Amino acid sequence: MTVGVAVLGSTGSIGQSTLRVLSRHSDKFHVAALTAYSNAELLARQALQTSAGFVGIIEARERPNVQWHAGADCLTIASTLPEVSIVVNAVVGVAGMDATLGALRAGKRVALANKESLVVAGRLALDAARTGGGEIVPVDSEHSAILQCLAGRRASDIRRLVLTASGGPFRDWGSDRLQDATLADALRHPTWRMGRKISVDSATLANKALEVIEAHYLFGVPYDRIEVVVHPQSIVHSMVEFVDGSVLAQVGVPSMELPILYALTHPLRVEDLGIDRFDAVTSSPLTFEAVRGEDFPAFALGVEAGRRGGVAPAVFNAANECAVGLFLDGRIRFGDISRAIDAALSRAASGAGRTREELLAADAAARALVKEYCLC
Ligand code: NDP
Ligand code: MG
Repeated sequence: MTVGVAVLGSTGSIGQSTLRVLSRHSDKFHVAALTAYSNAELLARQALQTSAGFVGIIEARERPNVQWHAGADCLTIASTLPEVSIVVNAVVGVAGMDATLGALRAGKRVALANKESLVVAGRLALDAARTGGGEIVPVDSEHSAILQCLAGRRASDIRRLVLTASGGPFRDWGSDRLQDATLADALRHPTWRMGRKISVDSATLANKALEVIEAHYLFGVPYDRIEVVVHPQSIVHSMVEFVDGSVLAQVGVPSMELPILYALTHPLRVEDLGIDRFDAVTSSPLTFEAVRGEDFPAFALGVEAGRRGGVAPAVFNAANECAVGLFLDGRIRFGDISRAIDAALSRAASGAGRTREELLAADAAARALVKEYCLC
C-alpha cells in the first residue's frame, strides 16, 4: 500500500519539484490528485505520467478532458479526498488558504509550501489541525531546517530561531538604484529558481517577513525570539539556538527537493540519490551579514504586522500580493511595492480576524487600498 498524495499547484515550481521527488519514491507514494490554475497543457502531461485519479483545473482556457474537474472548488475536493493522506499545498497566494484549512480539518498531513495560508490564517490553521487531527509539516527550506534541528525537542528548549535569507538579487544595491529596479532584475535570483511572485518577494525581502510569521505559528516562538540573518550562499538553511547556548544548523545545497521529501517522510528519512550532495570545500566560504532593514522596508512592515496580529498579517499579505501583481504587470515601480504595503497597513489593519470571513474582508479591503494608492 502506498500513501496517496494530492499536489495542489502541480504545474508550478514547487509542484513540478514535488512530482520529481514522488516519481523517485513510487514504492512509498502515489499521486492521487493534481490541480493547476490554468496551465492545461502541462497538467495533461502530468495527469498522463502520474495516472492521478483526480485532476482539477480552476480556469480552463479550453474545455478540459471530460474526466477533469473544472472550477474553484477543485482545491477543496482534492485536499479532502479519502484516498489522500498528504496534501502538498504548492499554490501561490491566499488562494491556497481554504485548502490548507480543509485538509487539516479532514485530518490530513499538509506539506506546506503555501506560506500565505499560515500568514493570513495562522490561528485558524492551528485550530483546524487540533480539531480535525491534521498536521502541518513545512516545505519552506528555512522551516524544514528548523524542524530538522528541533527533532522533537520542546518549545521551552528554544532560545532563538535564526532564519537565513539569501538577501535576494538586490543584496548589494543602494537604496536609490533599488527604486527603479526592473522586473528582469527582480526575477534574477542568485541561488533559487522559483515562481515569479516569490521571486519578487525575495527581492523586496517581504518573503522573509512572511517566513518570520510562518515560523511564529509553526513553532510557537514569540517574535522577539525570531531573528533573520543574510547568508548569500543559501547553504545554511536556518539555525536554532537552544537554552544552553548550543546552536544547531541544517546545511545542504540549495534544492527544494530535500525539504519536499522531508515533508513527506517526517520524522523518518529515506535514501534519495537524486539530490545533489553537499561538499563543504566547494561550498566555501560561508558568510553572514545583517539585514539592511532601512533599504528593504517591506521586511520590517511585515514583521511589525505579525507582531500586531489580528487582521494585520492578512492585510500585509494581501497588499503585498496585489502590489507584486501590479509590478509584474509593469504598472508600478519596484519601490512602490513597499510604499503600497505601508499605505494599506496604516489604513486597513484593525480587527481581531477571528473568522475566515473577517480575514477575507480585510484581504479585500487591503487590495482595494493598494489599487487606489497605486493607480488613482
Ligand atoms: P508558481 O507560480 O511556480 O506556481 C504556482 C502554482 O499555483 C501553479 O501550479 C499555478 O497554476 C497555481 N495557481 C496559481 N494561482 C492559483 C489560484 N488562484 N488558485 C489555485 N492555483 C493557483 O509558484 P511556486 O511554486 O514558486 O510557489 C508556490 C508556493 O510555494 C508559494 O506560496 C511560495 O511562496 C512557496 N514557496 C516556493 C518556493 C520555491 O522555491 N518556488 C520555496 C518556498 C516556498 P498554473 O501553472 O496553472 O498557473
Ligand atoms: Mg524560504
